[in-house]
Amino acid sequence: MTATRFRELTDLQKEVVRTAREFAENELAPHVEEWDRTGRFPRHAVDALGELGFLGMLVPDEWGGSGVDTITYLLALEEIARVDPSLAVSMSVHNSLPTQMILEHGSDALKERYLRPMAEGSMLGAFALSEAHAGSDPAALTCAAERDGDDWVLNGAKAWVTNGGTADVVVAMARTGGEGAKGVSAFVVEPGWSGYSVGKEEKKMGLKASNTAEIVFSDLRVPGGNLIGESGSGLQYALDSLEAGRLGIAAQALGIAEACIELAIGYAKERRAFGRPIATFQGLRFMIADVAAETAAARALTYAAAERKDRGEPARKEVAMAKLLTSRAAMAAALKAVQVYGGYGYVKDYPVERFFRDAKVTEIYEGTSEIQRLVIASELFAE
Ligand SMILES: Cc1cc2nc3c(=O)[nH]c(=O)nc-3n(C[C@H](O)[C@H](O)[C@H](O)COP(=O)(O)OP(=O)(O)OC[C@H]3O[C@@H](n4cnc5c(N)ncnc54)[C@H](O)[C@@H]3O)c2cc1C
Repeated sequence: MTATRFRELTDLQKEVVRTAREFAENELAPHVEEWDRTGRFPRHAVDALGELGFLGMLVPDEWGGSGVDTITYLLALEEIARVDPSLAVSMSVHNSLPTQMILEHGSDALKERYLRPMAEGSMLGAFALSEAHAGSDPAALTCAAERDGDDWVLNGAKAWVTNGGTADVVVAMARTGGEGAKGVSAFVVEPGWSGYSVGKEEKKMGLKASNTAEIVFSDLRVPGGNLIGESGSGLQYALDSLEAGRLGIAAQALGIAEACIELAIGYAKERRAFGRPIATFQGLRFMIADVAAETAAARALTYAAAERKDRGEPARKEVAMAKLLTSRAAMAAALKAVQVYGGYGYVKDYPVERFFRDAKVTEIYEGTSEIQRLVIASELFAE
């Protein structure tokens, strides 16, 4: 089945979809069940994404990327998520967050040292904003960075870092000034440096093959040149990059929803009850019709938000709406797919059980659904 898109794709977009789908079906699909069962992070699959040019999609070619528009990037991401949502979140975080912060605000030296290899796929990035007591409210973060000569010295722990245990480069937010948003700065740090260690690796409900780890800084010495942009602007840079980040999660949610719709239709055509395929029962057909309509509407909204962002227009509200509705569509589609499979939806022999577990986090990370509503309402009431 082809996802309902309400638009004709460009030749480049069709090519990107074809490449991503072939890669996902040939290289990922045979292994996703095992990666989910063992919780193994497939670093070689990330490297393969890099070889396909999928790790520098939003970076211009002067810095080693392909500089495609946001929709083209989202199309690739949706195809990866349709097969392996765990790998999709690595791809999304890397492309949308650390690379974008260095691209938008980093010095040329930082771009040469980190952005180029990240865009070319030889360095995997992570984004460390959250802390154990500062998730929805990142302005409450306490990880400290103190000036020492030309360097900064970081102390504290960052929580929930996607790629945290496997990244080659991390963009970390730490407090350089007083309380609140204006006291936060952003740094590029390398996991190999003395004073950097990986703490607890999370045992999650879903996305089991994605690495989510605490990272700990103990007198981590960071060269002054690794401060991104202006001291005190780090939280604003991070929140700005979350616009691309949330669109990435929207694409991940669309991939999950699409997979669930396809699986439910396929199964309903095969499975028989009362002497006929269950696909002939209107009760089931209507379930799928509803989630297909919700998914198509959420996709159209996501593309509209992406186009707005690419035109340089304010898109905070539209991006929040897209994240809210795509994650809701993913949850609804996964729930209905499990229902269509009946008892077989509740066991690990079929992939809908995994998609069901994977879908939930799209309503939690990069801003929970409540935080998306907060963003939408704050823009609406300010108008
Ligand atoms: C698998 C995974 C990967 C992640 N990857 C990263 C990463 O790479 N980098 C990173 O920095 N973070 C990452 N996170 C962290 C994630 O962004 C946070 O978990 C998320 O922002 C929520 O923060 P919290 O868990 O502290 O929940 P809390 O902020 O404690 O929220 C708890 C509940 O309160 C609600 N709530 C909070 N404030 C309000 C409000 N004002 N109004 C209404 N309701 C509210 C929330 O919606 C939620 O339901 C990841 C998380 C997970 C689970």
